[in-house]
Amino acid sequence: MRGMMMNVPLLISSILKHAVENHGDTEIVSRATEGGIHRYTYFDLDQRSKKLANALQRMGLKSGDRVGTLAWNGYRHMELYYGVSCSGFICHTINPRLFHDQIAYIVNHADDSVIFVDLTFVPILEAIAPKIENVRAIVVLTDEANMPRSAILPNLLCYEDLIAPESEAFDWPELDENTASGLCYTSGTTSDPKGVLYSHRSSVLHALTSCLPEIFGFTVCDVITPVVPMFHVNAWGIPFSALIVGAKLVMPGANLDGASLYSLFESEGVTIAGGVPTVWMALLDWVDANAQSLSSLQRIAVGGSAPPLDMINRFQSRNILVRHAWGMTETSPIGLVSAKLPKHQNLSSEKQALNLTKQGRPIYGVEIRVDGADGKPIPRDGKAMGNLLVRGPWIASDYFNSRQNSTHEDNGWFDTNDVVTVDADNIVQIVDRTKDLIKSGGEWISSIELENIAQAHPSIKEAAAVAKLDQRWGERPVLVVQLQPDALFTHDDMVSLFSGKVGKWSIPDEVIIVDELPHNATGKLLKSAIRELVTIRLAGKADAADDD
Ligand code: AMP
Repeated sequence: MRGMMMNVPLLISSILKHAVENHGDTEIVSRATEGGIHRYTYFDLDQRSKKLANALQRMGLKSGDRVGTLAWNGYRHMELYYGVSCSGFICHTINPRLFHDQIAYIVNHADDSVIFVDLTFVPILEAIAPKIENVRAIVVLTDEANMPRSAILPNLLCYEDLIAPESEAFDWPELDENTASGLCYTSGTTSDPKGVLYSHRSSVLHALTSCLPEIFGFTVCDVITPVVPMFHVNAWGIPFSALIVGAKLVMPGANLDGASLYSLFESEGVTIAGGVPTVWMALLDWVDANAQSLSSLQRIAVGGSAPPLDMINRFQSRNILVRHAWGMTETSPIGLVSAKLPKHQNLSSEKQALNLTKQGRPIYGVEIRVDGADGKPIPRDGKAMGNLLVRGPWIASDYFNSRQNSTHEDNGWFDTNDVVTVDADNIVQIVDRTKDLIKSGGEWISSIELENIAQAHPSIKEAAAVAKLDQRWGERPVLVVQLQPDALFTHDDMVSLFSGKVGKWSIPDEVIIVDELPHNATGKLLKSAIRELVTIRLAGKADAADDD
């Protein structure tokens, strides 16, 4: 017997409709790319998204066409999120931090019809212009007064001129909820980027779930800043979840440094913000160096890579709660959340902070499996290591336009390539990416564990641990560090730092000091480049020793 409830589809347009009808006067505040602060309301967002939808129709786009965006977090990008997806097109957010060749590859692979670009990123399109194939229009997200003149792209359109003559009336179509709504490519450090195609249903379910108290816990009283870019996994769904609860949104634009975030948070009364650990370390460093207090911030959400214990402690000592989540482009992104259980209430604050460094437990909607090398589930003892597999309604079943099936053994599980331990409470801890683990004399060494320990040292700004080849042991760990200004860190400092915290065999053989560590397009340590750097440095050292 079928249930007798209405079959109303879960569409992104339902979020906008709800927001405008119930929270029409809630503000969206953006640091504009042209300079200054821009303010408007959900009501304005709705009207301008409808004008954009009319403009896209007039441009002749057909349902399912991809519309590229190269833009910071701001109100016009919000209009693209809603105007494009709600009218049945696919909002393809492009990561401007990728290499130009990768961006050209992505634009062609996605077969983008139109690209909407912030002023800052016009030079990227100029650089790849000869390589992009089917883009019929490029629209600059600005007004006539700020339009750039480009000799390479003479036909640039102006966004404000494009939408100005359009009507504010548009009936969002009642789409099938499984219709594609958004497209985001993985950063592709080892192979070509792969496209993850979100649906209306997956986006709505993910955004709804992310509002749960133990995840982001958004309420109508919150003032939310996604520092995580809208070109990276839909800014963790915040452009949708904020409208579901009706909270004020504060968009940082291009200014993601500590000083700019601090002044925006303080002037707009931001209560919760989401971003990667690097962003939070920069904010904390700035606030400490300038003896300031974060007066409105109550919680921060962190993910994308493991937050150092030191960062968690620094926030908690300011009474700011840390919400740590794990996810991937392929998981929309939220899959695991590091939440406190009732049995943890009496643990010391040190132990609670340490628990928060773990990636945590699956949220409702995400099932996990952890398989050992033999393909069988590992014991849930917090020690055995295995490969993390996930499934659920907001997990990718395959990649866009790909002949390669991503699911594990073709049985409906997505293989994350993250190596993890899992304990009896189902608390998952990432040990490493499969390819970043270091195997020394048959023992596995977690690069993440070494990095976490190193990062807590006061002289170290950022640390990476990678393998070097070793005739006797197969591989040995090497620590590569960027120091704090004027700090010193010797080989002996490294040995005493690790002694007693890890097994003797895990203590790195060498420490290499660099001016800056290379990162990939999403701000994560670029291990392939760091491994190359280590090979070159060690070869140089060996040559110098030979010359002596
Ligand atoms: P991306 O698709 O670029 O977001 O990268 C996803 C990968 O980032 C995951 O497979 C993890 O290896 C890593 N990652 C994401 N969140 C975390 C986290 N909280 N702690 C450690 N690693 C993480």
